[in-house]
Amino acid sequence: MDRRRFLQLGAASPLLLGLGSVAGEARAQQRQPGNAGSSGNGKARNVIFLVSDGMSMGTLTAADQYLYWRDERHTHWIDLYMQRDLPVHRGLMDMSSRNAMVTDSAAAAASWGCGHRVNNGSVNIGPDDEEYPTILQIAREAGKATGLVTTTTVTHATPAGFGANVASRGQEADIAKQYYERGYDVILGGGNHYFDPERRDDGEDLYGKFEQAGHEIIRDRDALLALSDSDVGVLGTFSNWHLPYEIDRLHNEQSKQSVPTLAEMTDAALQRLNRIGDGFVLQVEGGRVDHAAHGNDLGGLLFDQLAFDDAIGVALAFQQEHPDTLVIITTDHGNANPGFQAGPDLGHGQFEKLSRFKGTGLTHIVPELNEEVSRDTIRDRFKETLELEISDRETDMIYDFVRGDYELPYHRTNHIRSLVAKVVANHLDFNWIGRSHSADYVELAATGPGAEQVGPFTKNTDLHQFMLKALGIEAVQEAANRRGVRVFA
Ligand SMILES: [Zn+2]
Repeated sequence: MDRRRFLQLGAASPLLLGLGSVAGEARAQQRQPGNAGSSGNGKARNVIFLVSDGMSMGTLTAADQYLYWRDERHTHWIDLYMQRDLPVHRGLMDMSSRNAMVTDSAAAAASWGCGHRVNNGSVNIGPDDEEYPTILQIAREAGKATGLVTTTTVTHATPAGFGANVASRGQEADIAKQYYERGYDVILGGGNHYFDPERRDDGEDLYGKFEQAGHEIIRDRDALLALSDSDVGVLGTFSNWHLPYEIDRLHNEQSKQSVPTLAEMTDAALQRLNRIGDGFVLQVEGGRVDHAAHGNDLGGLLFDQLAFDDAIGVALAFQQEHPDTLVIITTDHGNANPGFQAGPDLGHGQFEKLSRFKGTGLTHIVPELNEEVSRDTIRDRFKETLELEISDRETDMIYDFVRGDYELPYHRTNHIRSLVAKVVANHLDFNWIGRSHSADYVELAATGPGAEQVGPFTKNTDLHQFMLKALGIEAVQEAANRRGVRVFA
């Protein structure tokens, strides 16, 4: 196994020595029937925290409108707002970090993970190198199972924000090691690079270690779909780095067979976590919505947002069967604030064009656009990937740009990816304000026990306390305070 061994490993950290003993009390309390969550607003046994990374409001809207045009149904996210029988609490959230109005993903996830605003780029580490205990550690100490699911490397900033402490988000090899030392139960996503001894700089065999500790190791979609009904942990990595964009995955037979969808990973994680602990905390991230926004890629953005929405559907279906589950749905920051604008074909023509996209420009167009590229290749790439017939003028702009003879006026968008996006915008009227994170307040929604804590406006760090309260494990904090153990500064 074994859970005990993991708990011992966790308790090896001096900070957690104190936390471990008080958590023991919390665990004992929780085992008494009816006592779980008695001190909180809710009685949540489980928390599912879903985050679409870098989702601007225009992304949420466009994905819903496109889906309605295509399938005559709303996204699960918007549908939740329309239902009357499932109370939803929603509002805006301020995601500022300790040192910046515009957060990065690490500081954003850390604000939820540890309840503190940290500097951009750092993961649950304070200004004086304090290591703040994370929600997954606290949940684990309270007897909960723990899980991280994402389409990025599993060691990327957002999942790390729920379970790791490192000075810099780039320390993904260290983050992978911490996942092992802290004994997280279900870890699914990309990032073989950080577990494979052949690829890790220190040669450490993390797969071997996880396996010794009782985890199943899986490496492709078939293995995920064939997971047994056992109650051991699972570590699954389905690519060396990030998983492919959903639209690229869908149009590549090999990826389609080997890489699971975010919804499939979420479903597998929920089934397994539900058998492991006394309830669970699971983070689910649609991590590449952010990458598509940075790259100004419409197909990448909307199909990854829809794949994220499918995972919301899985989480809400689980909640229907397990009403003692708090489901939180949000994003960590906007990115590039895109959206459809009025155009000659009033929406539907735009959607029709979008439905014919066969991949991302980031994967299939941009890599070809170097100073050697011919006008024919430029036109062919747009035609083959997006089924767009671009004009001679558009072809010339790209031809000149890659040779340094043309530039875009806003220096942050003076990039080939933005120029490709401008050409796409000429055909679909979908546009972007830049290539980076935005300062906007973000959408936050919650349903289930404890959701009522979400009001019209939430500070990011409050969400950490909401989760603890809903789970009824703020007792960990109170007991620690009594003993003078600095759990929450
Ligand atoms: Zn982010």
